[in-house]
Amino acid sequence: MSTLLSVPRVSLRRAVALTIAVAACCLPAAVTAATPDVVVTAVAISRDGDRVPELLETIVARRIADRCPAKVDGSGSSAFTLILADDPTIGGEGYRIEDVGPGRVRIAGDGPSGVTAGAGRFLRDSRYGPDGFRPGRWRGTSRPSKPFRGMYFASHFHNYYHDAPIPEIERYVEDLALWGFNTLTVWFDMHHFNGMADPRAQEMVNRLCGLLGAAKRVGMRTSLSILGNEAYADSPRELRADVTGLWAFGVELCASKPAAVERMLGWFDEEFAAFAAVKPDYLTIGPYDQGGCVCEGCRPWGGNGFLKMSRAIAPVFRRHSPDGKIILATWLFDFDRHVHKGDWDGLVRALDKEPPWFDMILAGTHNGRLSDYLQKHPVPGGLPLIGFPEISMRGMTPWGGFGANPEPAHLQGVWKEWGPRVVGGFPYSEGIYEDINKAIVSQFYWSDRPAEETIREYVAYEYAPSAVEPVLEAIRLLEAIRLLEANQERSWKGGDFTLPRTSLVMSKDHGAARARKLLEEAEAGLPAAVRSSWRWRVLMLRGLIDDALFAADGVPTAATDPLFAELIRLHHAENAEPDVRPPTRNPQ
Ligand SMILES: [Zn+2]
Repeated sequence: MSTLLSVPRVSLRRAVALTIAVAACCLPAAVTAATPDVVVTAVAISRDGDRVPELLETIVARRIADRCPAKVDGSGSSAFTLILADDPTIGGEGYRIEDVGPGRVRIAGDGPSGVTAGAGRFLRDSRYGPDGFRPGRWRGTSRPSKPFRGMYFASHFHNYYHDAPIPEIERYVEDLALWGFNTLTVWFDMHHFNGMADPRAQEMVNRLCGLLGAAKRVGMRTSLSILGNEAYADSPRELRADVTGLWAFGVELCASKPAAVERMLGWFDEEFAAFAAVKPDYLTIGPYDQGGCVCEGCRPWGGNGFLKMSRAIAPVFRRHSPDGKIILATWLFDFDRHVHKGDWDGLVRALDKEPPWFDMILAGTHNGRLSDYLQKHPVPGGLPLIGFPEISMRGMTPWGGFGANPEPAHLQGVWKEWGPRVVGGFPYSEGIYEDINKAIVSQFYWSDRPAEETIREYVAYEYAPSAVEPVLEAIRLLEAIRLLEANQERSWKGGDFTLPRTSLVMSKDHGAARARKLLEEAEAGLPAAVRSSWRWRVLMLRGLIDDALFAADGVPTAATDPLFAELIRLHHAENAEPDVRPPTRNPQ
């Protein structure tokens, strides 16, 4: 167990020994000194301060009650009291955890996201057993090193965020806030709909407002993402963009046609009004993938047409969110030297002519590296840089289709390059199967914490302390299996696997059987509720699927059918499109 800052550890045992109705607890020898050693059977939780999220009491109570039989009733008569407090003197959205009396622990935060992150730290530091609750013993003050700790939920293709029941996603948002994320961004993807009045568009607005509302309730900021020349499915054909050579839906409009610009600004105005209830704090405007226009007037899109559009969109957004900040995305800038050439140069020239009309720059590339431009140059305009790490899709298609995809080694390598350059970022997420990756990134942003340390904390809290070593080793193997065949992708979208042979690339010399065995060993020591939890199942299923596929030389069999079917249920992917639907031999 690591400490974020070097602080003296206070013995909770000494503090509460006289007053708590505790059962003396015998510890197995292997348990580290930081492991809580007092069992509490009743917990009271209270709030102190207007900026402590109202919901936080309930969130913490539910996490404790779900994991152990301790009575969490919020009343003052309980043996152990947790006080959730507001303390702006901590600064930097940090938190402080301290003893304030026998059996009384105070978690204070600078603002709502600080106290929520502190509560998360305390919950993960605590232990849970059939005899009750062992309060976490870490004490001290911790402040995040990166101010922008975002998460992007891609809600499309009928993936998890598109189709899962909203209360389930709301709970998931709470979990992310407990890990220290302080911003949630979503994209209202126009191309799915025929205008804002389309009932399906209204349904999506309601869903996304619900998720952003859930984020606000736990102290997170909210953010909308759009494409610079985004359009609805029924956009006027005569106003459309030339998307030759681009990843595009084909409905995008051209920024060099005045009627198209007017139309798009009207749509954005309407969209921002539709999200007024959650008043987004940020707007991210994206250039490519999808989007863009390569007509004479717009190209190079990223350094020309896109900048004209984003400059026109900025005041529209600020009318709705006067204090809102605008993030200009440079995703895929100069990516293809024929289609995208001149993007960065165009941006630099634009900023030479006038001060920026946006507040931050977002960057990212498919391979996870800093773009060539940023490797050689400072950020244009000297603006803060936001990262956009990919945690969902690498090396496996369908995304999430084979279960959990933890990749600590890869993410650590990416962070080494990006960490010193960014003020934070938002990972791109397609679902819950990358939950471990999210935890890893949250701790990069908080304290540059090594990925494996975060996994240890994750496994001890979400599974069981006894599972830490076998699961960590299994994760190392599962990550390496994917990389055994250099530059090969695992790709199989279901259907008849014999025609042609799936592009699953399998090696005889692998660790799949060993990974499965380690996971089975870990599973034997898990409480029943954990064994059936989605967080465990997505990881266990990955081990089972990899082993079954490797054993059959890459060919899915009757043995893999129920495994993929379970993933579909967990991901609510019954109606998902092939890119995000776990594959089955019979897609029906
Ligand atoms: Zn154009």
